[in-house]
Amino acid sequence: MPACCIAHIDVDAFFASVLVRADPSLQGKPLLALGMGGGCVIAASYEAKAKGIKTGMRLLDARKLCPGAIERISDFAEACRASVHIEEILARECPAMEKMSVDEWFLDLRTLVGGIPEDLGAWALDTQCMIRRHLDLTVSVGIGPTKTLAKMASEYRKPAGATIVIGTQSPAKNHEASRPEPSRRAAGATIVGDLIVLLTTFLSGEELTLAFLLKVLVVLLVAGAGFMHFMADLWGYWVQNPGRARMVNWSVGVLVIFAIIAGFFIVGTPGQAREYRLDQQKVNDLQSIQSQVVYYWQQKQKLPATLAELNDPLSYYSVPVDPQTGSAYTYQVNGARSFELCAEFNTKSDGISAKGRVVTMPVALGTNDNWQHAAGGQCFSRTIDPERYPPIIKPVQY
Ligand SMILES: [Mg+2]
Repeated sequence: MPACCIAHIDVDAFFASVLVRADPSLQGKPLLALGMGGGCVIAASYEAKAKGIKTGMRLLDARKLCPGAIERISDFAEACRASVHIEEILARECPAMEKMSVDEWFLDLRTLVGGIPEDLGAWALDTQCMIRRHLDLTVSVGIGPTKTLAKMASEYRKPAGATIVIGTQSPAKNHEASRPEPSRRAAGATIVGDLIVLLTTFLSGEELTLAFLLKVLVVLLVAGAGFMHFMADLWGYWVQNPGRARMVNWSVGVLVIFAIIAGFFIVGTPGQAREYRLDQQKVNDLQSIQSQVVYYWQQKQKLPATLAELNDPLSYYSVPVDPQTGSAYTYQVNGARSFELCAEFNTKSDGISAKGRVVTMPVALGTNDNWQHAAGGQCFSRTIDPERYPPIIKPVQY
């Protein structure tokens, strides 16, 4: 049988249910349906199963577990008729059927009249209703990509349960749906990672700011929602509740669009983000050049005439260039210890980004004391304070 969309139909407590059907006074009572010789339990009602009775158990053991249970020899002839009747009903719908035992069948849903049902949950429910209506017996239905999974699924919710371990109908989609495991693992790993970050931050004594806690919470919620989605998919919840699935789909879609639009307003478009990043790079470059100019002055007590003089193959220093245009930054000497560095910026520096760029060296005298800039061309004048950055005294050579 192909490994796609297999349904397993299993009559609940078959021999016991046949006895109950014949004698409704047994309904709701612990009942042991016994084999021919009467020494073995071949089926037990769910009231008896609740006490620990298992199929195939010796009657003596069963009595110990459930002393008040009603014992009846199974009606094999009636059970056989019921089995044949169920098989006829199933065969009318699904030609590719495989009988596993007197009360269990595998169906290849691809051979169903009308093709694979769009709503597998509804199909399972219809099948259960049809058998109940015709035979007054309940069945559990399991649907999965393989017979093993289908059988496990039918056993998952008994009695009269329906479990689907694939979320879609077509073989292609089925292939996707039968692989939720990596996604669940990824969601689970994200949750664990998120909690580890929270814990290590807490244990290392770092300040747990509100922003950090909110970030952890958002990651936890998103990963948790993803995890629950895949679990629900595995349990067939979305298939059984298509209305809710549609509602969740739409809600998530709207939420994602809202988040993207809000993101544009809060952090800017990707183009703006790139411009901010390039501006930051330019400021970093200017800081680096400035440090080298100061070092040069400390070494030689004069400013370099051009930036090219700062290139030093021994220390592997190479003067950075504008990352956007590829051209050199503008450098100008304004005095013995004064110089100017210029660059073209895309945007105005905001307060937050400027905070991290407050110049540390050299101390500027009366001019720009940080790297805040407007959009467009901007020059930063610097004057070296020789008291703070004194010339490096070289040992006298004799
Ligand atoms: Mg059964």
